[in-house]
Amino acid sequence: MLDLLLPQRCVVCGLRGTQLCGPCLSHLPRIEAPLCERCGTPTAWPVRRCRECSGRRLAFASARAAVHYDDAVRAFVAGWKEGALRRLGAAAAAVVIEVVQPPTAEVVTFVPPDPDRGLKRGHHPPRQLAEQLAEYWELPVAAPLRRRRAAKRQRGLSRTERRRNVAGIFTAKGPVPRSIALVDDVYTSGATANAAASALRKAGARRVEIVTFARVVR
Ligand SMILES: [Zn+2]
Ligand SMILES: [Zn+2]
Repeated sequence: MLDLLLPQRCVVCGLRGTQLCGPCLSHLPRIEAPLCERCGTPTAWPVRRCRECSGRRLAFASARAAVHYDDAVRAFVAGWKEGALRRLGAAAAAVVIEVVQPPTAEVVTFVPPDPDRGLKRGHHPPRQLAEQLAEYWELPVAAPLRRRRAAKRQRGLSRTERRRNVAGIFTAKGPVPRSIALVDDVYTSGATANAAASALRKAGARRVEIVTFARVVR
């Protein structure tokens, strides 16, 4: 409904008549191989673990994202999250389907909303993305994850602080299937995805694959 009331302008370039114009959609910077096999960061050549993730205890088996989190993607995600522009969710799912290989999972789930944010609008981009991807992948959607408490904002925190800030923040109602695809909108340091994957593992999952629309690449 809200879509109808908002002026139709491309969230990236401002062009009138559309929420995202064709050229901006086609120029969203797709992430291309070679990648770190584990965390999915682009690398100079294929590696099993990269400098970013080696030596870290990761609860997920792999992480993959469709696009680099650049200025255009930042504007896109802001419009998608804040503006409740549902059509942008469909565009995000289409780009993920184009770039990311389907997971080998029994079920698709998503990082749950922070009770202090998101729910107010009744619009949760990760759930929307998970539902659209699940339909394409022909997998069921489950929602076993809950937040135990609200996290402080991750912005401005170092990587170690981010990990501490979200450690133990999620809990999963088990038992959950052995293999799960976990969907989120943006992979920043991986701390949130890792904390959520860890909760799924504690509830019985053996293999968690992270799929996000965007990824911060350092
Ligand atoms: Zn545009
Ligand atoms: Zn890596």
